[in-house]
Amino acid sequence: MSILKKEGTLHGLFLNKLEALYDVELQITKALPKLAKKVTDPDLKEALEHHLQETEVQVQRLEQCFSLLDEKPKKLKGEAIRGMASDATWVLHNVEEGPALDANIIAAAQYVEHYEIAGYGTAAEWARLMKHTEVKELLDQTLEEEKSANDKLTSLAETKINRQVAMGME
Ligand code: ZN
Ligand code: FE
Ligand code: FE
Repeated sequence: MSILKKEGTLHGLFLNKLEALYDVELQITKALPKLAKKVTDPDLKEALEHHLQETEVQVQRLEQCFSLLDEKPKKLKGEAIRGMASDATWVLHNVEEGPALDANIIAAAQYVEHYEIAGYGTAAEWARLMKHTEVKELLDQTLEEEKSANDKLTSLAETKINRQVAMGME
């Protein structure tokens, strides 16, 4: 990527990381409604819809980060998030609606949440190193939301949905 060679500084890498996260969040705002639509369990549906609302705020937070840094985000197209979205689409087309699809939607969403937790964790640490304090606070807010979204999915799977799948397969 040109930015890495042209501006081989931590600040350049940091902007690149934020641009990548911005692309990720925008892709997620498109993918989450498609997943939520095919979900059977009402609590899972609510969790995905709630996280969609958070994601819309996360997009705005990243825009705030760019404006605090006096930057305009360059458009990036990350392959990883597109791969995860296309795996999720495959699941929607190939698994019958019901607990098994719900469990697979949780699995697909958790790949994304873990990916975001890794990305925001790095970005927040780099912001701390470079003393971009306000930006770091914004990144930490999103990081916390990603962790809770992930925990919520884990708890729905473990307390309910995986059991329904297992029962359906007896
Ligand atoms: Zn900087
Ligand atoms: Fe997010
Ligand atoms: Fe998320």
